[in-house]
Amino acid sequence: MCPDFVFALSIVVICPDNYTCIGMNKHSDDFQAALSSLSEVRRADSFEFSVPVIVAGAGAAGQCAALAAADGGAEVWLLERDATPKGSTAMSEGAICAAASKSQIEAGITDSPALFAKDIIEKTGGKVDPDFAQVIATEAGPTVDWLIDTHGLPLVFDHDWEACYGHSVQRLHKPPSGTGEELISALANAAETAGVQLITSAKLSKVYRDDTGAVTGVCVERPTGESEDIGCGALILATCGFGANPNMIAENIPSMKDAFYWGHEGNDGFGIRVGQALGGATQHMDAYQGLGLLAKAYGEIVHPAVIFHGGVLINTDGERFEHEVVDVSGQGARIMAQPDQSAWAVFNTGAHEAGLKTAPMQKIDALGGIKRADTVEDLAGIIGCPVDALTDTLAHVSETAKANTEDRFGRPFEPSDAPDFPLYTAKVTGALFHTQGGLIVDGHGQVLREDGAALPNLFAAGGTARSISGPGPSGYLPAAGLCMAVTLGRLAGEQAAKVAGAQLLEDAAAE
Ligand SMILES: Cc1cc2nc3c(=O)[nH]c(=O)nc-3n(C[C@H](O)[C@H](O)[C@H](O)COP(=O)(O)OP(=O)(O)OC[C@H]3O[C@@H](n4cnc5c(N)ncnc54)[C@H](O)[C@@H]3O)c2cc1C
Repeated sequence: MCPDFVFALSIVVICPDNYTCIGMNKHSDDFQAALSSLSEVRRADSFEFSVPVIVAGAGAAGQCAALAAADGGAEVWLLERDATPKGSTAMSEGAICAAASKSQIEAGITDSPALFAKDIIEKTGGKVDPDFAQVIATEAGPTVDWLIDTHGLPLVFDHDWEACYGHSVQRLHKPPSGTGEELISALANAAETAGVQLITSAKLSKVYRDDTGAVTGVCVERPTGESEDIGCGALILATCGFGANPNMIAENIPSMKDAFYWGHEGNDGFGIRVGQALGGATQHMDAYQGLGLLAKAYGEIVHPAVIFHGGVLINTDGERFEHEVVDVSGQGARIMAQPDQSAWAVFNTGAHEAGLKTAPMQKIDALGGIKRADTVEDLAGIIGCPVDALTDTLAHVSETAKANTEDRFGRPFEPSDAPDFPLYTAKVTGALFHTQGGLIVDGHGQVLREDGAALPNLFAAGGTARSISGPGPSGYLPAAGLCMAVTLGRLAGEQAAKVAGAQLLEDAAAE
């Protein structure tokens, strides 16, 4: 059925403004009242129109969930609050980590789901659910293959991304342009080809449930303020996390409440709150991906390639303050702790050339954000730091690199890393990119209650679900955000199609 027809139906529900109060303290009465206003009891047979599977949020997770549900034979509607689906996915570099994909095997990399799971568990210090980590580690490779082979996505193995920040081997896959824009457009094209009905400017604003806790339908709000109801057999929440909700950040990640948020504005935590309103439990709500390499003035990220090739971070005292390649996510908070809450990435000619192979660095360079220094005095002038301190800092890195050994932070340097002039530099700051905690789901993306029982037909994927990062900032593995989005999206879509199909058969038998 044409969605325009459905939205012309005259069922109008007045939805409360849930967005202003969803960040309140979870123990307060107001919070509980706000949560209960997100769901309402309504019989499944009371809707004028129903769709087997509804997916809310058309980022990478929602698109993959919709694709998988369509592959499973279900009619799927994909609701997106914006006029064009973009989400944080479009802001990303489109990089997806996955083990044992066909393209990783072709690249000659020895990897396995077991090694990937071990990396995930070690990165979180053993604080992640090992069974869940194993599911994601096992299913990510087949998900990348499915996207390429079944849905024609132009994903390629990234030969340039080194094994680092917790990945013990190279395992990143990306669109050829290295942009999330290319990834989201390719996903949207694939979903359209698969028959997924995308409905834009359609914000999930409320859910309906029956006495058993099963979702019976959704309320969709239009930019005009009108809203309409649609029944459904299964609901997949894929509206991402809560980075754009200052109240939820203050409540769950107080250390980042003053940090700059560099993600999509739609990540307001609504899907997580809806899941809670339906009885879903949450986990690791203090987890997030921070990043220290945001060139804020240029709206781009200084590519980690310049750091892999020996680049260092120097503060306005002229000093280094960390092992720059050990913890990409926790780096954000460490830079925020420096004078001016910023630092300068300083790198040599080889690193500069490696960085310029990437789209973000090309943009920063074109805008004049990468400065060249021919002497230590030049560099100190650009950074605004004492020459003596900077001279000592560079000398220490140089000696370490030439000796092919580790520095005082335990970071190994090679001779090619030596900071020989000319050097290049770009100013960076710490930011909050996306949250990693969310609804607890099982290996099929099905939302679980506190007691571990699954809600009958509610699923979550991407930033709305708990991730594989454990608590805090330091468990985030590079490219785990999209790995989770596409992998859990696919698993949730497959299972939602089965649940909705079984419900249809039951309904038919009852008639
Ligand atoms: C700058 C940046 C770079 C990154 N780079 C990478 C990378 O290279 N690799 C990686 O793995 N991760 C990266 N990440 C993280 C990655 O982008 C996210 O983990 C991933 O995009 C999450 O996908 P998602 O589908 O859950 O969310 P999103 O892509 O944000 O999609 C959620 C969608 O839901 C919609 N929505 C929200 N509320 C509603 C509602 N009520 N009703 C209907 N629709 C709604 C939003 O408009 C949005 O379109 C990066 C993040 C940022 C910010």
